Amino acid sequence: MIIHTGVKPYSCEICQQTFTQLSGLNHHVIIHSGTKLHHCDYCDFETPHKSSLNRHLKRQHSEHKEICPVCEDYFYSKESLQSHKCKKL
Ligand SMILES: [Zn+2]
Ligand SMILES: [Zn+2]
Ligand SMILES: [Zn+2]
Repeated sequence: MIIHTGVKPYSCEICQQTFTQLSGLNHHVIIHSGTKLHHCDYCDFETPHKSSLNRHLKRQHSEHKEICPVCEDYFYSKESLQSHKCKKL
């Protein structure tokens, strides 16, 4: 079996970024689809997946512990949680 190290067979048609796995490409192309990206308030992290942002916040910014009990959004202060208009209510 020959292992082609460094070969990334999947490339994005829009920005030419390359990926080793099709799943990586599929995940990536969402950013070109007009899907609104969720930005982290605390660093440059961004993702089209709200669940990924929540996971990121939990891991990277775990000092921000105000959590909406309904939709499990994370907030860095009680004020922002209180001003949060929860869509699931
Ligand atoms: Zn792309
Ligand atoms: Zn962050
Ligand atoms: Zn909520």
